[in-house]
Amino acid sequence: MRKITIIGAGQAGLHLGIGLLAKGFDVTLVSNRSAADIAAGKVMSSQSMYDMAIGYERELGLTLWDEHCPPIEGVHMRAGTRDGATMVDWRSRMRANGQSVDQRIKMPAWMDLFQRKGGRLVVEEAGIAEIEGYAERSDLVLVATGKGELGRLFERDAERSVFDHPMRTISLTYVHGMKPREDFSALNISINPGIGEYVNFPALTHTGPCDIINLECIEGGPMDRWSEVSTPAEHLALATELIHEFFPWEAPRCAQLRLTDDNGILVGRVTPTVRKPVGTLPSGRRVLGMADVLVLNDPITGQGSNNAAKCVKVYLDAILEHGARTFDADWMSETFERYWDYAQWVTRFTNTHLLPPPPQVLKVFAACGENPRLAARVANAFDDPKGLAPWYYDPVEADRFIESFAVATA
Ligand SMILES: Cc1cc2nc3c(=O)[nH]c(=O)nc-3n(C[C@H](O)[C@H](O)[C@H](O)COP(=O)(O)OP(=O)(O)OC[C@H]3O[C@@H](n4cnc5c(N)ncnc54)[C@H](O)[C@@H]3O)c2cc1C
Repeated sequence: MRKITIIGAGQAGLHLGIGLLAKGFDVTLVSNRSAADIAAGKVMSSQSMYDMAIGYERELGLTLWDEHCPPIEGVHMRAGTRDGATMVDWRSRMRANGQSVDQRIKMPAWMDLFQRKGGRLVVEEAGIAEIEGYAERSDLVLVATGKGELGRLFERDAERSVFDHPMRTISLTYVHGMKPREDFSALNISINPGIGEYVNFPALTHTGPCDIINLECIEGGPMDRWSEVSTPAEHLALATELIHEFFPWEAPRCAQLRLTDDNGILVGRVTPTVRKPVGTLPSGRRVLGMADVLVLNDPITGQGSNNAAKCVKVYLDAILEHGARTFDADWMSETFERYWDYAQWVTRFTNTHLLPPPPQVLKVFAACGENPRLAARVANAFDDPKGLAPWYYDPVEADRFIESFAVATA
């Protein structure tokens, strides 16, 4: 039986581990936190996921919360200023619902499932020495440690990395008491140009259905005030204040907010980075990175967990196709390139939203407000960002694309 070790039991590691067990592999997963640590810890993400990624989880019987998790039915995007001027306002249902299950619920449940299916879960902080040991005893070692330190095993790819510093200070606030939207539940995006973004959607957490507030604060700007905060109550107060001040159209929904729990908060920064896929250990043995280790995006477009699931799909297929052959550096590079062939579009979509919008994107958003079919196309791009190319990135293609919808609806 072929032996595979995965370092990191998060969205990517657990999904791949369970997928490999189903195909008869001997799988070891190494996690620096136990299920109990994760369940009792701080929130790690807002983890909104969409149809394609959820579909890959569903194929392996991993969508355990379909009946309890509130759906994300569509997208509503607005851009405006604090004085109430509106520049963009469009909304659309998506082809299929999205969902966000708190990783504090999801990862412990998947760890349990992994073990019940015969996987070996080791709880330890894996360093280079431990990985050497696993590499000696395994046919393949994958590193799925997310934003953790081990990412340094993989060289930054300067050509594919657009930024070398964080573009936003990000805060998460899990709340109860948000007034529901009147039309459909949504990935609710508000943009205050030059200042930041407010993104909210429903989710499932320890205390039941909730809403997640994700504030993306431009570094050094007027929303970047999180160093003032030291308690959960202060965190909630600042989140509410920033919404009132910079996204006043959303304030009426936020009059009665309370935290889901004191751990339902997070503040952080992410440097969007693409890394080279093969890490070389001191012994010369090779390991393959995956998901956030290799393609780390700012959460502004909510793509990281989706990307992790899509990466698992590519890697799982590639491992199965490889049969009994050695997992050498060439195979590792080719496997990552298959993933990057898709992930590059997710990265491009996300990086575009970290910079002032190019004129053709503003044109597309304006057209979305006029044309529901066009709006649906853009809403569905959160599920499949590849569908935005080429028109999202090219003024001539954007005109042609908008025009094609005008003809179609005439
Ligand atoms: C604020 C914020 C909001 C986000 N919102 C969204 C969203 O709405 N939608 C979306 O799709 N994505 C979102 N993301 C991104 C998403 O959470 C990640 O992209 C996704 O979890 C990546 O999966 P992963 O398996 O690569 O890493 P992770 O899920 O981070 O898992 C890595 C695991 O490895 C473990 N680990 C680390 N180091 C070691 C070690 N040395 N030894 C053993 N174990 C180790 C960690 O404890 C962790 O359990 C968000 C991220 C942030 C920060």
